Amino acid sequence: MTDTQRPGYSDTPLIPGQRWKVHDRDRPAPPIVRPAASSGDPPGDAVILFDGRDLAGWTSVRTGGAALWKVDSGYLEVVARTGDIQSREEFGDAQIHLEFATPAEVVGDSQGRGNSGVFLMGRYELQVLDCFENPTYADGSTGAIYGQYPPLANACRPPGAWQSYDILFIAPRFADDRLVSPPRVTLLHNGILLHYDRHLIGPATHRAVAPWAPHGPRGPLRLQDHGNPTRFRNIWYRPVGGWNSTAV
Ligand code: MG
Repeated sequence: MTDTQRPGYSDTPLIPGQRWKVHDRDRPAPPIVRPAASSGDPPGDAVILFDGRDLAGWTSVRTGGAALWKVDSGYLEVVARTGDIQSREEFGDAQIHLEFATPAEVVGDSQGRGNSGVFLMGRYELQVLDCFENPTYADGSTGAIYGQYPPLANACRPPGAWQSYDILFIAPRFADDRLVSPPRVTLLHNGILLHYDRHLIGPATHRAVAPWAPHGPRGPLRLQDHGNPTRFRNIWYRPVGGWNSTAV
């Protein structure tokens, strides 16, 4: 294909702030990613963190050894008091998908019902809880950025039903042990927007406001043992480097 046969133009103005012209024929095409046959299944370039078979990709946060949660029929389940688990894989800016089900048998109320959590980089918690007809404090409800921001909606399915989180996470930047830009979270729960580009105010904690603790550019995905047998399946991420670059 000759230059003039390639789609696009070379006689158009520069896009302000970019090195490319409008409809630039030399601008690289986006990489092809094979979409999943049905939504929620991992796309072609996903990094699979839990595929339903085993916990080889996970460790116990408490011991650093094997993760001791139960694996059964394609899902994993919290085994109370074995502690949080985290992925061996570490990542920064990413699109993350996971599915969870709070216990079909309803036990407890408020924060005691189906409580778990998804900790991005091991530190920043998106609450997992059964908030189906279960009042609790707003910034601790399902999909809350725990202790910071309530979700925009309560999108909970009934206890025992599988539900999805689709997360866009932009990792914080630190320089010289100071915060340059905070973590940013967009979250869809069962396809419903709970957060759009929330700028977090610190790591997750309980009944307090935690100061920033500078860390590296990548971290694990951590799942919380809050004493309830909540289940997870189909956990994957895609790195999204370049999301804020005009050079692409
Ligand atoms: Mg929790």
